[in-house]
Amino acid sequence: MCGIAGAFSKRGVKLSEFLYVLQGLQHRGQESTGFVGYSIDGEFITFKTLGLVHQVMDKFGKDPYMRIIIGHTRYSTQGESWRQENIQPFYILEEGGTIAVVHNGNIINYGDLKNKLKSRGIFFKSTSDTEVLLYLYILSDKGIPDKFKYMSDEVKGAWTVLFIDRGNLVAFRDPYGFRPLWMGKRDDEIWFASEDSALRSAGIVPIMEMERGQGLIVRENSVKDFRVELESLSLPCSFELVYFARPDSHIFGRSVYEWRYFAGKKLAEIEDIEADIVVPVPDSGNIYALGFSEQIGKPFQLGLIRSHYAGRSFIQPTQKKRRETVRMKLFPVISVLRGKRIYLIDDSIVRGTTMREIVRMLREAGTKEIHVRIGSPPVIGPCYYGIDTPTRKELIANQMNVEGIAKFIEADSLRYLPIEVMEKNLKGFCISCFSGKYFVHP
Ligand code: SF4
Repeated sequence: MCGIAGAFSKRGVKLSEFLYVLQGLQHRGQESTGFVGYSIDGEFITFKTLGLVHQVMDKFGKDPYMRIIIGHTRYSTQGESWRQENIQPFYILEEGGTIAVVHNGNIINYGDLKNKLKSRGIFFKSTSDTEVLLYLYILSDKGIPDKFKYMSDEVKGAWTVLFIDRGNLVAFRDPYGFRPLWMGKRDDEIWFASEDSALRSAGIVPIMEMERGQGLIVRENSVKDFRVELESLSLPCSFELVYFARPDSHIFGRSVYEWRYFAGKKLAEIEDIEADIVVPVPDSGNIYALGFSEQIGKPFQLGLIRSHYAGRSFIQPTQKKRRETVRMKLFPVISVLRGKRIYLIDDSIVRGTTMREIVRMLREAGTKEIHVRIGSPPVIGPCYYGIDTPTRKELIANQMNVEGIAKFIEADSLRYLPIEVMEKNLKGFCISCFSGKYFVHP
């Protein structure tokens, strides 16, 4: 999962403003940051670094006006997170200008495509699937819409992208629609970002959520729309609503906040155990807990406080790092918890180790009973479309049943959102990692 952003403006947008939008997508990836573009003076400018967007701001040191720019916050699904060569954007300087790409998603047939391209004499510098997209684009010797038609035939998986093609800024959402992309406007400026919230917080008006299979070519005086043939299925990722997207975002035509609130209420409707207070795991469980609390009529209490100086634990690349991060970022409030029976609410359980650590901390703080309630169904299968749960072995719900998981996480009880609630209320979404049924196969 990654965040992508782009901007085009005749008069130029300040680099710092662009980075501010990119920072609004930081939750989508924290491993590396990069941008590439041209200033209004025609200077080619790029900078990439491991780390967060503010580190680019600190290190780059200049603030030119950019005529065209794309940027990326990375959370790796293909290609090692620590390798400098895997940091996006990928670009190639050609006669007549630059071709550059940023990508959100994961390409399933990456290996086959890479081999095909190698046999055509391409040398790859990275282990990222995005570099494959760059060369597929370059080698399809046609106009921009036809390039995307060609790529849609070749590429399987999730590939929402922004390209710079010489003087053009090109946006495209993949034909299954796995990952979101918004277009926004401010004066003569055209902007793109994975989520509308990132645009809005920078004073840019979100105009349109791009449809799957839709492309936009932004030039000096025009925005041209093109479409590729759609896949038979629409598969926007439900996990975006469950966890990834910012709660103030609207993606796939839904309010993220409203979905989480609704799921929390649904979870409370099936509750059969009595407890005293509703405690979210911040921040991912907050809105579920609000809905749960309203429905069940028990007070919402912040029994865990989150430090905002540590990263999101799920997207830390190693298990050890994830576990350490839990104790560094969550602090139990003893006065709220001591002697209480609590409903502990979170969005999902993936590996189970984070939740076990939280339950242990809450017990140490004197909590009497801990009833864990999860705002999504058990994650039983891996994601091939851009979320880093590559093996079934890592998924606790694939290894044991609900009772077994409750034991593993050391909770007094555990309940999940029934999958039927998702099936009924998120029709036309991908729920493969919850259902175990995959429609796009590796
Ligand atoms: S498998 Fe799960 S995480 Fe992956 S796209 Fe589908 S819903 Fe999203």
